[in-house]
Amino acid sequence: MILPDLSRATVAELSAGLTARQFSSLELAEAYLARIAAAQPTLNAFVTVDPDGARAAAKAADTARAEGKSGALLGIPLAQKDLFMTEGLRTTCSSKMLANFVAPYDAHIVTALKQAGSVLLGKTAMDEFAMGSSTETSFFGVVRNPWQPDAVPGGSSGGSAAAVAAGLTPAATGSDTGGSIRQPASFCGITGIKPTYGICSRYGMVAFASSLDQAGPMARSAEDCALLLTAMAGHDGRDATSLPRPKEDYSRELATPPSAKPLEGVRIGLPDVFFGDGVDAPVVAAIEAALVELCALGATTVPVALPNLGYSVPTYYVLAPAEASSNLSRFDGVRYGHRAAQYNDLSDMYQKTRAEGFGDEVKRRILVGTYVLSHGYYDAYYLKAQKVRRLIADDFQAAFAQCDVILGPTVPTVAPLLGAQSQDPIKMYLNDIFTIGANLAGLPAMSVPCGFAPNGLPVGMQLQGPYFSEARLLNIAHRFQQATDWHKRTPKGMNHE
Ligand code: GLN
Repeated sequence: MILPDLSRATVAELSAGLTARQFSSLELAEAYLARIAAAQPTLNAFVTVDPDGARAAAKAADTARAEGKSGALLGIPLAQKDLFMTEGLRTTCSSKMLANFVAPYDAHIVTALKQAGSVLLGKTAMDEFAMGSSTETSFFGVVRNPWQPDAVPGGSSGGSAAAVAAGLTPAATGSDTGGSIRQPASFCGITGIKPTYGICSRYGMVAFASSLDQAGPMARSAEDCALLLTAMAGHDGRDATSLPRPKEDYSRELATPPSAKPLEGVRIGLPDVFFGDGVDAPVVAAIEAALVELCALGATTVPVALPNLGYSVPTYYVLAPAEASSNLSRFDGVRYGHRAAQYNDLSDMYQKTRAEGFGDEVKRRILVGTYVLSHGYYDAYYLKAQKVRRLIADDFQAAFAQCDVILGPTVPTVAPLLGAQSQDPIKMYLNDIFTIGANLAGLPAMSVPCGFAPNGLPVGMQLQGPYFSEARLLNIAHRFQQATDWHKRTPKGMNHE
């Protein structure tokens, strides 16, 4: 057995190694399980690890290969964010409310990734019910950033991002309602893509804000994201918002041979709102250097305007809590999840169950959401926010008449220290300014590593494109990654062998 260095191995490399019989899927799964066990006390990236399930799936993949089957994900270990239902394995949303909940079925994307032959290692920690930007609200304790353990990994998919960055899994899934794939990808120096709304079925993904939620892959490279997205995406009649489109191969543009100017003809739109005062200097410096690189690869830049993007944070923080307050009403102690041990009557049972089961941030969202939907405030807040949402989507449409992609920082800062923002929710909300627009408009967007701040923490650049431009975004990111090595850097001390 010749195992590659798992602190940096990509899905594509591991797949080639499996095909060449350099190691078996079982050997690979065992090696990742050992890395997870070694890192768990410091990083806490996983809520649940499933060694037995992983071994069984790995053996099945080895048998399938021995029988002549092949596939990019056959025998590849993966982790699922803990809001995707996994049959027989608990799905907690990092909440006390679901701490012991074992799903009776698999989410659509879980089924799809299993059918592709992947091996589920376990479930990754997140902000409770995906509400947050730091993974500090997990009932199972904070997750740490592998690059600097006193920094947050970002959120809400912080467990997935930390696990990929530390090489505890070659790739993982995330969900993105307002940036939860892209922001932790940026903070942990990995690549992640939120697809166009409706590309990945939401069936079996615990709902936060249904009109904004999308699943997507998080990995070490754009090439790997394309491999995962190809398996995850596709129409599913069980989700009414799943789009009836033909299956796509998201790797299709990556195969063309590299040339000196692979980005010839790509027009990069630069909205001034992404380069304003609130962006930290090391972030600006990294983005500007990335732009020089992209232009050297043949791209050109053009200024574009997103005049209403400044309203995206208040718009989102009306709409997302409104939808959350409705979605989370199902956690009532009757059907599943936590139920208060002692209560007087039904109403008391509801109250105690929800008071005990939900954490502070979730309660805050339910309160805000119920308020903006209440009689007398609905028009002033909810309806108004829906109108602004339309304006923001129209801004993007107008911008894409002039450019192919929009580029800027994923987040105005690098990862903050643990505890630095958790007491100030508004400050944390404001940092979502660059990611929320794509969710409000339903557009695809990705984060790509493009440098480091002087304190050693990674910087990510965001690429946003028109509807269904995933293959193009992934190709632009791939060409950038062929010319740079930011995505290949690994945090120190993550070699657990
Ligand atoms: N940080 C945002 C929020 O707290 C986004 C979360 C997400 O995308 N799930 O709502």
